[in-house]
Amino acid sequence: MTYEFNPLKRIQTCSLFRICAVLVFVFSLINTSVFAQPHLERISKAERSDGLGYVVRYHLSAPVDSFTVIQPAPDLIQMELFADNIDTTGIQMFDQEGKIQEVRLYKLERSYGVDIYLDSDIYVKSKAYPDQNGSDILLALTKADPYEVDVFTQQFLAKTWYLGIDPEEALKIESIPLPQVDPDAEYNQVRDKLKFDTIVIDAGHGGHDPGNLGYRKRTKEKDVVLAIALKLGAYINEYLPDVNVIYTRDDDTFVELEERGRIANRSEADLFVSIHADGWTSSKVYGSSVFFLGLHRSDLSLEIMKEENQVFNTHGVIEDLTEEDLLIYELAHSGIISTSERIAYMVEDQLRNRAGRKSRGVKQMGLVVLYQASMPGILVETGFLTNPSEQRFLTSDYGQSIMASAIFRAIRDYKVEYEKTETFSSSN
Ligand SMILES: [Zn+2]
Repeated sequence: MTYEFNPLKRIQTCSLFRICAVLVFVFSLINTSVFAQPHLERISKAERSDGLGYVVRYHLSAPVDSFTVIQPAPDLIQMELFADNIDTTGIQMFDQEGKIQEVRLYKLERSYGVDIYLDSDIYVKSKAYPDQNGSDILLALTKADPYEVDVFTQQFLAKTWYLGIDPEEALKIESIPLPQVDPDAEYNQVRDKLKFDTIVIDAGHGGHDPGNLGYRKRTKEKDVVLAIALKLGAYINEYLPDVNVIYTRDDDTFVELEERGRIANRSEADLFVSIHADGWTSSKVYGSSVFFLGLHRSDLSLEIMKEENQVFNTHGVIEDLTEEDLLIYELAHSGIISTSERIAYMVEDQLRNRAGRKSRGVKQMGLVVLYQASMPGILVETGFLTNPSEQRFLTSDYGQSIMASAIFRAIRDYKVEYEKTETFSSSN
């Protein structure tokens, strides 16, 4: 093994480090009261007397070890306060109205994360500094030209407030209750038909269809969902080796919607899982949703709907048709809706309670159903790529593992439940 010394690379790394250090605005405070546990009592906001912007004040009973501030989007400021234990009992917050739309707090292991979402009609540059007269931290928001703010914010990548979940650890389980082995071959044959042994994993979009492009067009939905789909498949192969995994695509190719449905039907799969990531016009919207399949039938053909790119919903209102909608029509089948709903709730529970994602809920697409599918199916909107923080999470290997492992656990639990029920009823 040889080591190559590259002075140019070293210089680049050094200056890059220096630039980062300056840009991230790290202020290490002199820790005057080492033993005092900082209590974050209040976050207040005031308009500046010079009319040039706002000041947000973090009222602290003792200094924190250090803090950082970044502004990864014109409307998102992220602060992190570092201290072994920051107490926020009874924290008071200013009324979240008038230019500052939302403040979200995240208690982390050794720090405290704060997301501040601004109204989109205000343009400010943020800078934080310690109050000279005490332990408070001040965040100055100075009005600036929109273009200047845009350029300023491009240097920052949003943080995602990791919850310290180990995706590999989360996959481990003590024991899977295995079905009893019956020596009677004929019975086994029947039982095998009732086994959950095939799953179709459908990564949305692909090839010339990138899906949504996320915040600042930094990513492509097709890449994010493929990565999550492949991880999910790998987890199933490793931890549920008796389940056959079929992908509608396992690389960057475009697959027609009809072909995705055909793959599912041909495989006689027990479950169809489609993976997508959301996009919205506002960067503030975030969270994951799980859809199960619709209820109502129609004589309209999928072709007509696709041509028109519109659809009548249950209220007879024409809506724009997304690829997700089409897929839901394709798969929906009234006989398996309750099963799809059950799985959707299991996935949502995992995403909310184990993966720590904000849940936007389980939704039924109560829309026109055209095709019947022979299996339950769900569609997971893993999160909003148009939210800078969620984009960072979903494009990271960590975030993709967390999402895949959450979906995996729900599928594993469903398989166990399914096989118990089916084996019981068939032996009756
Ligand atoms: Zn999509």
